[in-house]
Amino acid sequence: MAFEGLADKLGNAFKKLKNKGKLSEKDVKEAMREVRLALLEADVNYKVAKDFTNKVTERAVGQDVMQSLTPAQMVVKIVDEELTSLMGGEDARIEFASKPPTVIMMCGLQGSGKTTHTAKLAKMLKKQGRSPLLAACDVYRPAAIDQLKVVGEKAGVPVFEMGKANPVKIAKEAIKRAKDYGNDVVILDTAGRLHIDEALMDELKNIKKEVEPNEILLVIDSMTGQDAVNVAKSFNELLDITGVILTKLDGDTRGGAALSVKAVTGRPIKFAGTGEKLDDIEVFHPDRMASRILGMGDVLTLIEDAQNKMDAEKAEEMAQKMMSNKFDFNDLYDQFEQVKKMGPLKGILSKIPGVGKQLEGVDIDDRQIDWVQAIILSMTPEERSHPHIMNPSRKRRIAAGSGRSIEEVNRLIKQIDQMQKMMRQMTKGGKGSKKRRKMK
Ligand code: GDP
Repeated sequence: MAFEGLADKLGNAFKKLKNKGKLSEKDVKEAMREVRLALLEADVNYKVAKDFTNKVTERAVGQDVMQSLTPAQMVVKIVDEELTSLMGGEDARIEFASKPPTVIMMCGLQGSGKTTHTAKLAKMLKKQGRSPLLAACDVYRPAAIDQLKVVGEKAGVPVFEMGKANPVKIAKEAIKRAKDYGNDVVILDTAGRLHIDEALMDELKNIKKEVEPNEILLVIDSMTGQDAVNVAKSFNELLDITGVILTKLDGDTRGGAALSVKAVTGRPIKFAGTGEKLDDIEVFHPDRMASRILGMGDVLTLIEDAQNKMDAEKAEEMAQKMMSNKFDFNDLYDQFEQVKKMGPLKGILSKIPGVGKQLEGVDIDDRQIDWVQAIILSMTPEERSHPHIMNPSRKRRIAAGSGRSIEEVNRLIKQIDQMQKMMRQMTKGGKGSKKRRKMK
């Protein structure tokens, strides 16, 4: 997950301040030197890092902060605010056309995730009640059209293509078709190259001039750090983009691109890609991102993820079972299925306040869920719904069937036993249950 090292180093710098109580100007400057080094190590642009720490220092050595009862906390608050502002401050949304269809032109270098994010964005907009059409304007790479068709189908959105025709013509035809068929958004998947070259830029400029898109979104790979920022700078100079989609944030442990793009290009990050699945896209919220960097978690995104990716009916059903104490291995299996939909475990855990920092350097093997599910699948239906019938021979059979150890099987049985006990307590005693009874 992004910002791992940075969050840790900033935490250390602030811990020193907190241990001091009253702060001197020298203390703040020393801490900001550490912050600057941490930013540089996270691959933040040099000038951006310098301006950032200068700004924080200027605000932090002010009378109000130094005289306050909790100066160290005030410094963290200032860093939080300045990080938010560095990444753009406000959330940047898509500017929809007053008269549909809204045309979104996607551009970016090959491998940045452009085609994947064309489909991710379409799926997200579809969920919001829009009706997008994708247009295959990358006519040079033979597999590009097919790839767009595959991801389009997965996202459940139509794809318009004309084979190897002129990209401007394809874009125009797609817009015409969208008007005829009532698609209110057209997303153009344009050609990518390995490097920025004149022919590519001329083609993109031409499409821009001819179709006048409402949005030009540049897709950049966050894992390439400052290179991604330089790509964004060049594209913006030539094409005047309206925003950036920062991809592969799930694999980027440094986070330098996320922190530098807005400051270097003046264009906001509108969306972030956080995995290979089509649901792995987030609206980029600078304030929440700052919170994550400072190890304060991001509960809002976690809740939204749960709402978007989990099955509400199943969750309700499960809650009912818990309350009536009928929770068994079948439910546990379903619960793991739901958790898997939320993406890699480390990503989920890092959004919980206070947990993110503890995960530094810890490898969480997502296969653990599969292993537990394998154990459950090796049980008979009766064992799944009546966990108490387990005996040593059943356990041995389950362990052999799932390829896991007896200890793991035992641990799982103990867990469900504890869960059931806890639920019995919740539903019998306690204030909560009285209230519920009254409400009925
Ligand atoms: P394009 O050449 O720019 O169209 O790039 P693609 O859309 O084909 O993506 C290149 C590779 O990056 C594919 O293997 C994608 O699955 C992968 N990818 C794209 N976005 C993400 C992301 O947000 N996270 C991760 N982990 N992989 C991604």
